[in-house]
Amino acid sequence: AKSAGGNRFELADPEADARAITRNGLTTALPAALDRGEFFIEYQPLVHLGDGSVRGAEALVRWLHPQHGVLGPDRFIPLAEHTGLIVPLGRWVLEQSVRQARSWQERNSDAGPLRVNVNLSPCQLTHPGLVQDTVDILEREGLDAQALCLEVTESALIGADDDLLKPLRRLAEMGVDIALDDFGTGYSNLANLRRLPVSILKLDRSFTRGMQQFPADPVDLKIVEGIVSLAHSLDLAVTVEGVETGAQAEQLRILGCDTAQGWYYARPGPPERLHELALVDAVG
Ligand code: C2E
Ligand code: CA
Ligand code: CA
Ligand code: CA
Repeated sequence: AKSAGGNRFELADPEADARAITRNGLTTALPAALDRGEFFIEYQPLVHLGDGSVRGAEALVRWLHPQHGVLGPDRFIPLAEHTGLIVPLGRWVLEQSVRQARSWQERNSDAGPLRVNVNLSPCQLTHPGLVQDTVDILEREGLDAQALCLEVTESALIGADDDLLKPLRRLAEMGVDIALDDFGTGYSNLANLRRLPVSILKLDRSFTRGMQQFPADPVDLKIVEGIVSLAHSLDLAVTVEGVETGAQAEQLRILGCDTAQGWYYARPGPPERLHELALVDAVG
């Protein structure tokens, strides 16, 4: 809504205006949304490439906005980071996810201990309560630390100093897995990996895209092959995301990737879905 004062304003983009208004509106609505219980979590299965079994799921938060419907995290996580709401929101996601994993384990003991992956924003990493909150939640919900994996993006850890790594080290010592998310997009120094308390590399979707066709792009194959062998030589497991076709899954399995996630297996869905997928898997 720019006033038509002069020619300078003719380029005003009404869509950009609308986006800005929505952004402000969403930012203002965020804190109440948490109180009102408008957030919910979908879970996307993590599948073992060797035997196809479901090993756990990644928790992905959504906002059921009373006017705009379901909003994906890309719409509101940046706003929550900007306003600091990400700390209570992230704690809520962690608590819900840990409780869910515990309930999968109780209902589904045949399928092996299902694990849960939770995304951590950089703001949560620097928040002093992270380790204690995590310890408290695991204890209260009765979940083993081994059943939790925290995903931190590669870009959040680039150039990380000891102060930033200390909480992650403590969590890793407790048995929580730390995964380096979106790996391959952040230009990090590969030698730097040794310094980080991570046990899993999550290879970004951009790498799996080149494998949608068969035969796959030979350069992409070489790159993934190199990353997998480096990761394994450092005792890191490799998870691949964005697997959309059977051809991709087969290529990635041959290349030695350990775990896969993507629409080929399942879209993110309600927690009961994971229970069913894992159970079918254990019986069949
Ligand atoms: P991410 O951690 O890289 O999560 C994977 C994203 O890829 C998810 O998008 C998922 O729905 C999507 N995806 C999964 N399989 C496929 C596939 O086969 N093809 C394609 N094209 N996409 C696939 P989503 O749910 O929109 O989440 C976007 C990002 O939002 C996540 O990226 C993560 O960075 C962030 N996020 C989600 N939940 C949380 C949270 O609780 N806390 C924080 N801090 N960030 C979150
Ligand atoms: Ca993630
Ligand atoms: Ca990712
Ligand atoms: Ca990503």
